[in-house]
Amino acid sequence: MEYFELNDMKNIPLAKPDIQDIDIQEVVKVLKSGNLVQGKYVKDLENQTKELIQVNNCTAVSSGTASLHIALISLGVGYGDEVILPAFSFIATANVVELIGAKCVFVDINSEYFTLDPFKIEAAVTPKTKAIIVVHEFGLCANMEAISDIANRFGLPIIEDAACALGAKIGNFYAGSFGNIGSFSLHPRKAITSGEGGLLVTNEFDLDTKFKALRNHGIDPNSKTVDFIDAGFNYRMTDFQGALALSQLRRIHDTLLYKDGLAKSYLEKLNKNICLPEVPPNYQHTWQTFHITLNSNRERRLLQEYLSVNGIQTNYGAQCIPAMTYYNKKYKHNSIEDFPNSWRAYSTGLALPIYELLTEIQLNYIINTINKFYNNAV
Ligand SMILES: *Cc1c(COP(=O)(O)O)cnc(C)c1O
Repeated sequence: MEYFELNDMKNIPLAKPDIQDIDIQEVVKVLKSGNLVQGKYVKDLENQTKELIQVNNCTAVSSGTASLHIALISLGVGYGDEVILPAFSFIATANVVELIGAKCVFVDINSEYFTLDPFKIEAAVTPKTKAIIVVHEFGLCANMEAISDIANRFGLPIIEDAACALGAKIGNFYAGSFGNIGSFSLHPRKAITSGEGGLLVTNEFDLDTKFKALRNHGIDPNSKTVDFIDAGFNYRMTDFQGALALSQLRRIHDTLLYKDGLAKSYLEKLNKNICLPEVPPNYQHTWQTFHITLNSNRERRLLQEYLSVNGIQTNYGAQCIPAMTYYNKKYKHNSIEDFPNSWRAYSTGLALPIYELLTEIQLNYIINTINKFYNNAV
């Protein structure tokens, strides 16, 4: 802990993984064993994830981006196909579509929840549409009932980009269990981490066979002899990464409960000039990001500078992807008109610190600093 002081007010990072001694001991066990890649711990991590999310199959891979890449290939999406995805997400959601030679068909988000607007999907469907990627942005599930209805009507598979949503729920059902494929990230910014890592879940055995082949050079995972059933990658997870994530997974409910408490304090105490995130009834947010939106881009810049001067790190929540240089050049959208909610979230949104190691005292300091900014400004 020498680099991180409890209740330090001069240096509050946006995020910080909680690596405990028990986690470190588990990692050391793997390193001492010499079995470094995709062994017992990765297998246990997959089994525990299946149990948590209530799905039949889980495959661990080297990142959340690798898992999205494998998901698209496993569904047979490729060159010339179209994939529907939200205009507001982390860029990886779109990059994987480009990397398989398919076309991104962006759809706007709704303004309250930052997730795909189900009412705008149908107009984006064409005979070339091959899949819908739904993003559970910031850890809140999208409206899966409405989106599944549309997908079923057009016979389209759903990939849930649940990178931020391990443990998120609608009613009793977990993110990742609604679509054909659920994809998670174990990057240090997410609820639990393996350093770099990802998880794929599905109830379909044939899809899981493809996942396991594609992560490991195309080797048939169900055969005793070595045979190659696909042109695969090396997207394997190391066993010490598996041990780290497994150790953290054991306390995920406590982690999420603590973050829920932090979020509730933000929601209760932050100045009402700020547009606060909303959670629909019956939905359980993971609060991977606590994302506020402000009245203008200028207000965002001034608040961010004020917080930075006061030792509080913040960042933009996600991108309006069609407005980023590569996508703007290729698809030539006018994002302000075509995706107004995504543009607004991108240009006025701010992610505030929220993580297990953030203390109540630090949280109150952040809230008071933000409220002081508004009291001074008004
Ligand atoms: C973090 C994230 C990813 C990428 O995950 P990595 O593990 O960093 O590759 C993809 N999509 C979303 C929505 C994310 O937040």
